[in-house]
Amino acid sequence: MSDPNALLLKANLKQLKLPTMLAEHDQLAREATARNEAYEAYLLRLTEAEVATRTANAIAARIRVAAFPVVKELDTFDFTATPSVPKQTVLELARGGWIEQRRNCCLIGGSGVGKTHLATGIGLALCRLGKRVRFVTAAGLVTELEEAHHQHRLDRTLATLDRLDLLIVDELGYLSFSRSGAELLFQVFADRYERRSLLITSNLPFGEWGTVFQGERMTAALLDRLTHQCDILELTGESYRFRESMQAKQVKTAKTTKPSKAKK
Ligand code: ADP
Ligand code: MG
Repeated sequence: MSDPNALLLKANLKQLKLPTMLAEHDQLAREATARNEAYEAYLLRLTEAEVATRTANAIAARIRVAAFPVVKELDTFDFTATPSVPKQTVLELARGGWIEQRRNCCLIGGSGVGKTHLATGIGLALCRLGKRVRFVTAAGLVTELEEAHHQHRLDRTLATLDRLDLLIVDELGYLSFSRSGAELLFQVFADRYERRSLLITSNLPFGEWGTVFQGERMTAALLDRLTHQCDILELTGESYRFRESMQAKQVKTAKTTKPSKAKK
């Protein structure tokens, strides 16, 4: 430790902001000596460690900024439980080619069928590929836009949204908006057309979107843009939540009826 070279090296690594190399160089140097490794191999190992932590930190930051409500990965999605969802299409969406092509994706289906889970899983995979993603609910986004509008900073909010590679808008259709709210949402969707991707989840079939966007003309214009280059996945079947709670109930009932059967 008292070696002046070692102290200078530590100071340099600190100044150059290489914290992983600072933490690991001693240990890696000992290993390199033991293996009689070339200088270049040691340097490579050391820089690899720094690059690996930086990559991991960048991914963690992207996931934080994306603001997913819960972290749900695609590998916990049971495709056999929701056979209407084509697994290959979902895995393809997770590979991100559609983001480069500025395409959109719509997940349509009733409550509890796995729309939010899939949207989150795809979003997480894209964060890991270095994409800038943000998850919002439709209601949350409209509130944010309305507040920005009232505080005369709508342009800034729109510019921030515009920098995202993917905007995930969850739960479109659960609430309808005021005319001005619907217009603001329309503006965001229309701005992204052929420039940036959108992933929308909705419990409403397209034919009923007029109730959210108030007015056939705005709805038609919006759907025209949104679905022009779009993967549309329709999720059918029973709610996964409902099925799980029914199963839990059945297990409970089976457990409570067992002892009485045993008495007989
Ligand atoms: P939706 O957004 O369509 O209402 P969610 O994605 O919130 O539904 O799903 C409800 C719950 O059921 C969540 O906890 C989700 O993780 C789970 N779930 C739904 N479908 C599946 C599935 N096929 N495999 C595993 N979990 C699922
Ligand atoms: Mg949901």
